[in-house]
Amino acid sequence: MEKEKLEHFRILLQGKLDELLSGAERAVNGMSEAKDDNFPDPTDRASHETDRNFLLRVKDRERRLITKVNEAIQRIDDGSYGVCDICGEPISEKRLEARPVTTCCIECKKEEEEQEKGRGTT
Ligand SMILES: [Zn+2]
Repeated sequence: MEKEKLEHFRILLQGKLDELLSGAERAVNGMSEAKDDNFPDPTDRASHETDRNFLLRVKDRERRLITKVNEAIQRIDDGSYGVCDICGEPISEKRLEARPVTTCCIECKKEEEEQEKGRGTT
């Protein structure tokens, strides 16, 4: 991939990473704040527990995304960015624009999904 294109995706990914990190920080801060609060009403407590579980899930999902974005930036650095992990063909730029963290081309992705669909039914 051309250097200019790689820089474009690096900026894209870096922006995504910053966004994710600040979001994760907000979630963590919100959580520690809530922990110090006292909830004498059992109804309040129940809804609060749900909120906290939600935050933990979001955090887990975000953590995975942060890892993916970091790996994508790593691939830009080592020159393997934009190449399909499975077949070794270049991934279309349109697909990279939509999902800059993707590691496989649309054909391999489709095939993977087909196989997953096939599993369990046959
Ligand atoms: Zn492929």
